[in-house]
Amino acid sequence: MSRLTLLPRHRLAVERHAAATYPEECCGVLVGRSLADGDGHLVERVLSVDNERQDSRGNRFLIHPETVLAAEREARRAGLSIVGYYHSHPDHPAQPSDFDREHAWPGLSYVIVSVRQGEVAEARSWRLTDDRTRFEEETLTVDQPLPAGARRAAEESR
Ligand SMILES: [Zn+2]
Repeated sequence: MSRLTLLPRHRLAVERHAAATYPEECCGVLVGRSLADGDGHLVERVLSVDNERQDSRGNRFLIHPETVLAAEREARRAGLSIVGYYHSHPDHPAQPSDFDREHAWPGLSYVIVSVRQGEVAEARSWRLTDDRTRFEEETLTVDQPLPAGARRAAEESR
């Protein structure tokens, strides 16, 4: 099973964004790196962006391609890449919709935060299968930050 690892402050940023935009969907970009085994993503930065949809903001979100390109450029400057996206589901489970499946790409992590009555209920992470027919859940881990040296050693030993 693939996995996504966030630091506690990333998790907090995503949850705060999801609660603040309720009852509309929030969205953002997860920037980080792929771990050596290829199946794990480690988040280094969370970029909260505006939901750029003009309608149906309670159950749809949009990030314009220009916003993604700007995020990609910024990530690359820091030696990182886009490893996934997050968005919220106001008053709905943290499970991908058909809309989500049609707008997702394999190889990225999709974090969905369920918000009930303005309170964060749960967060889950998903990957689209290579044939794009369905999502599979991945392990979402919230880890304490390690000092850079220890983190390098941990990545090399994986
Ligand atoms: Zn969704």
